[in-house]
Amino acid sequence: QASLPAVGGKKTEDIIGITVSKADNFPQWYQEVVLKAEMVEYYQEISGFFVLRPLTMHIWSTIRKWFTNHIEEMGVEETSFPIFLSSKSLEKEKDHVEGFAPELAWVTKAGDKDLDIPVAIRPTSEAVMYPYYSKWIRSHRDLPLRLNQWNSVVRWEAKQTTPFLRTREFLWQEGHTAHLTEALAGKEVLEILELYAGIYEQLLAVPVVRGTKTENEKFAGGYYTTTVEGYIPSNGRGIQGATSHCLGQNFSKMFDITVEDPANKGSHIHVWQNSWGLSTRVIGVMVMVHGDDKGLVLPPRVAKVQTVIVPVGINKNTTPEARKKHEETVDEIRQSLKKAGVRCESDWREGYTPAWKFNDWELKGVPLRIEFGPKDAANGVVTFARRDTGKKGEIPMAEVATQVPELLETIQKDMYNKAEASFREHRLQITKWEEVLPALDSKNVVIIPFCLDCKCEDRIKELTTRAEDTSDVPENQKLPAMGMKSLCIPFDQPEGLVEGETDCLNPECKSKAQKWVMFGRSY
Ligand code: AMP
Repeated sequence: QASLPAVGGKKTEDIIGITVSKADNFPQWYQEVVLKAEMVEYYQEISGFFVLRPLTMHIWSTIRKWFTNHIEEMGVEETSFPIFLSSKSLEKEKDHVEGFAPELAWVTKAGDKDLDIPVAIRPTSEAVMYPYYSKWIRSHRDLPLRLNQWNSVVRWEAKQTTPFLRTREFLWQEGHTAHLTEALAGKEVLEILELYAGIYEQLLAVPVVRGTKTENEKFAGGYYTTTVEGYIPSNGRGIQGATSHCLGQNFSKMFDITVEDPANKGSHIHVWQNSWGLSTRVIGVMVMVHGDDKGLVLPPRVAKVQTVIVPVGINKNTTPEARKKHEETVDEIRQSLKKAGVRCESDWREGYTPAWKFNDWELKGVPLRIEFGPKDAANGVVTFARRDTGKKGEIPMAEVATQVPELLETIQKDMYNKAEASFREHRLQITKWEEVLPALDSKNVVIIPFCLDCKCEDRIKELTTRAEDTSDVPENQKLPAMGMKSLCIPFDQPEGLVEGETDCLNPECKSKAQKWVMFGRSY
């Protein structure tokens, strides 16, 4: 997995550009993009772990700043709890523990001595934090308690790992809050979900569908889970974008988190809790949605370098004076862009042609390239090329500082609109069972009338899994075998479902449909 296949006698790692097209071999395309654009490095020592490089961490810290500003306004405070979890606190919430047990990583030794009580690395921190919520929450005046931490967690995933999307350690934020009433908790669940949607839509230019998870897919031990769901056009799969859970009183009962009922002196009520998390997965979704055959395409708002100036027309015949003058003009442009708030670099690397530099910056996804030579300087213009569309144009030098920021915003909007149209066109409302599998095979997700029953959901997955023997079908002609699972019950329900009348779409199911539910092959 870590080593890419050889192409034409050269190792793929040694070829600078992307060697496969996104349409022909999406998994390899993705792997090459994240490696060659210098976003990640495989951690060779232990599989499923990745090094996140500065390009990635810039995006993550942009997300972090944006989200932090918003939750601080809501009154959420930062905290930091230990990385380890004792087996004792884990035993408290049975459903929760069962959900995470298969993925726990345990530390059993310190030096050469066995630990008396082994400790697990947090897969999420409910069981680490809530004993202290029980200690700190004494009265309804201690509510709401709202804490968030930015950390990494470990889930020893058995499924195949993919950079960003599914890794055994991932960076995230986890918010944990306690409230007096279900209504207050529920209001916050939706506020946070809207912020998650904002990270996708406003920062990463990626559309999402907001909704609730079905019972089968909700958070282990929680009351209900809300989610933003993304869509990967290249393979038609859905992906869970981020989740905001209402835990109800399940955990407060286990961890004994109570306050005196302000309306009924002497009696105690268990607090209502939420937890919510968004991980570095968001970055992988962004890469998959926007990238193209030349590599990464970054939305301007999160790009570390938004505009690169590549000097052209400078060669060995250029006099030192002319070169110096050109360097000064480039620097003036760069400074004026910087003043206008544009993250800008100029590329004076020796020994590389402008064409090589163009490819290199395209591979790394820089939203806007400015090509600038002595001839342009004489004409008082700069030439630009957009990364998202490849479109070229000219800007008068005097207007660079106003037009470039506008152009970057246009790129951001255009990228979102393109991705939004693609998701909309591939979200098919379907009312005939026979149409489900063909829709999936043409890379759609489907919205179907569904009874919401867990067993029926399992059966739908079985019914849409291809069981036939495909051993003699060539690999590139095989249709996917993967069955579909529910992605979410969209908040935005289409018309046409009559409760108590419309049948559940599963042909074997005798129940009536309760909701339109989005199903799909998924990550
Ligand atoms: P959860 O606590 O399971 O609701 O997870 C919170 C969020 O983290 C999910 O919405 C996912 O987007 C993300 N996530 C879960 N597992 C992984 C993983 N193995 N790698 C990266 N992100 C993950």
